Amino acid sequence: RIEGSKRPDETIIYSAHWDHLGVGLADASGDTIYNGAVDNATGTAALIEIGRAFAKAPRPQRSVVFLNVTAEEKGLLGSEYYSSKPLYPLARTVAVINMDALDPFGESRNFTTSGSAQSELLDALVDEGKAAGMTYVSDRHPEAGYFFRSDHFPFAKRGVPALSWGSGNDWVDGGTEAGEAAGKDYVAKRYHQPADEWDANWTFAGMVHDLPILYRLGNDLANSTRWPQWGADSEFRAIREATAAQRE
Ligand SMILES: [Zn+2]
Repeated sequence: RIEGSKRPDETIIYSAHWDHLGVGLADASGDTIYNGAVDNATGTAALIEIGRAFAKAPRPQRSVVFLNVTAEEKGLLGSEYYSSKPLYPLARTVAVINMDALDPFGESRNFTTSGSAQSELLDALVDEGKAAGMTYVSDRHPEAGYFFRSDHFPFAKRGVPALSWGSGNDWVDGGTEAGEAAGKDYVAKRYHQPADEWDANWTFAGMVHDLPILYRLGNDLANSTRWPQWGADSEFRAIREATAAQRE
C-alpha cells in the first residue's frame, strides 16, 4: 500500500490473483503441474511492476493498494474474503482495476474488458486507451459471463466501480486474424491446462505497451477528487449510492 499524501483514507485498488490450479490430472504429455503462466502470473507480474512504478513516482494524494489475492480459480474466494472484510472501507474505495490473464505476445491496436458494465471508470479507461492510440471493444463474448468470473466482481456487487482489463485481439503484427487465432489456440490448448506455461517466444511487448494505460488510469484517480459512478442503468449503481454520504 502506498499511503496517500492528502486523502489517505480514499483508496484505489489494483488487483490480480496469484493462484492457479496446482497439481492435478496429467495431460497427454504426462505433465501434472498447472503453472498458470498466463492465468495469472502475467497479472501478478503486472501488479508488481505497477506497484514498482507507483513506489518510484511522487506520492499520490489518495492511497493505492496492490491486492494479490488467492483462490480465484476456486470461485473468487480471495477477493470475496477481502471485500467482505476490507482493510480500507469499500465506501471510500474509489475503484478496482483488475488484471487477469494478460496476453504475453506483441502489441495490439485495441483492448477490452471482462463484461462491458457501463461506468465512469470504464469511460476513463476508454479515454486513456484512446490517448494511447488504442480502440476499446466491448466484451465479445458476454454470454460466457466473464464479468462474473474474476476478482473485480466481488467489489462490483458491493457497489465499488470495478473493471477487469483484457488484452486486445487486433494485433499490430497480423491483425485480428492473428490475434483471434492466438486466443483460440490458448483456450483450446493451454487455458486451465498444464501447458499454460512460460514460452521463450513471448515478447511481452503488448503488456509493456498497455500497462502504462492502467497506471495512468489509477494515478489520475489517485490525484483527483472524483468518485466514478456506475452507469444509469447499472444494477450496481443503487448499491453505491446507498453509501454516498460516506464520500462527502
Ligand atoms: Zn485468472
